[in-house]
Amino acid sequence: MDILIIGGGIIGLSIAVELAKTQRRVSILDGGFPGTAAYAAAGMLAPGAERLPPGGLRDLGQASLARYPAWIQDLEARTGQSTGYWPCGILAPVSERTQSNPHGIWLDRAELDQQQPGLGPHFQGAWWYPQEGQVDNRQLTQVLHQAATSLGVEFFPQQTVVRLEAKNATIQRVLTDVTSHQADHYILAAGAWAQKLLSLPVAPRKGQMLALQAPHAPGLNQVVFASAYLVPRRDGRLVVGATSEDVGFQGGTTAGGIHTLLHEAIRTYPPLAPWPLVETWWGYRPLTPDQAPILGPSPWDNLTLATGHYRNGILLAPITAEIITQYLNGQPWPKELAFCRWDRFGNHLALQ
Ligand SMILES: Cc1cc2nc3c(=O)[nH]c(=O)nc-3n(C[C@H](O)[C@H](O)[C@H](O)COP(=O)(O)OP(=O)(O)OC[C@H]3O[C@@H](n4cnc5c(N)ncnc54)[C@H](O)[C@@H]3O)c2cc1C
Repeated sequence: MDILIIGGGIIGLSIAVELAKTQRRVSILDGGFPGTAAYAAAGMLAPGAERLPPGGLRDLGQASLARYPAWIQDLEARTGQSTGYWPCGILAPVSERTQSNPHGIWLDRAELDQQQPGLGPHFQGAWWYPQEGQVDNRQLTQVLHQAATSLGVEFFPQQTVVRLEAKNATIQRVLTDVTSHQADHYILAAGAWAQKLLSLPVAPRKGQMLALQAPHAPGLNQVVFASAYLVPRRDGRLVVGATSEDVGFQGGTTAGGIHTLLHEAIRTYPPLAPWPLVETWWGYRPLTPDQAPILGPSPWDNLTLATGHYRNGILLAPITAEIITQYLNGQPWPKELAFCRWDRFGNHLALQ
């Protein structure tokens, strides 16, 4: 096979589709791990509301946001399925206006009440990000899977890569719990689990989530991003997130985690208190020391890296797929993306 992608989360799938569109022969291996972030995420597209640090990462986030409409249109046309993409805007209410903010529009309390009635009395006003929004990350994952299949991408589901084997600076094959595979080129898109295969500084940062069902759809007019975030799907489901826990790969939801989310959600928007709680879940964000992803070349000539997207992998999926595809199709790694290279953390990387 031409290219083998390790990890079929949002990043692996997005890259597979983009590469397959350029006639590359692509396969994806995925272990189906519980806690996959593509399934767990809220799907916010929020470079401003997330306050991405100015510079490279924020620019990358903005560039990816700008690609979303055309990217989604193409995927939905290919599959005939909806991704739930909704550029509904993001409202970030605050109890005190402390900083200026070049990316958001300030709304005072009266304007805030017009934009979104019912928010907690402690908010002084809000930052409004009209260009931002959300996608239903679970639907998007299914759509990407379907688009990849229709483009001839081959899937090896329920196979866990246990080791990469190299000779000098070339990966020879990957060993899974079932068999082994060989390809001309490999892409590591294993999310929070990347450091189990390669000594990359990627750590799991657990997030618990829950969903409520609003009596009328949609429950809110836009995403509300406070100490909890409230993401209204068009069908009336309200996704509430998220905790941020440094507990390794310790799965499951907890009384404390769900309590915190419900407490903050009710404080942010008191009218939701009687809404039924319909689901709880959790997942692992792939965290890096500087919170930027690890993308591009590796010390092995036929291994490309695409991991460490932390809190913004749904947002960054289209730009990641585009950049990695251009690189694998012969373009040099762009200078302005040096901040994403693995070697910013040092000069030694080893197979595990
Ligand atoms: C609670 C939560 C909320 C979030 N909210 C948002 C949000 O609102 N907006 C946003 O942009 N981002 C959000 N994120 C972040 C986003 O989900 C991640 O950055 C993104 O999913 C990372 O994509 P990935 O493909 O690298 O990893 P994942 O989506 O986790 O996929 C990794 C895949 O690799 C597979 N895998 C790993 N190791 C192996 C192996 N050895 N062999 C075979 N398969 C393997 C796993 O089974 C998995 O399917 C959130 C994340 C969490 C956890």
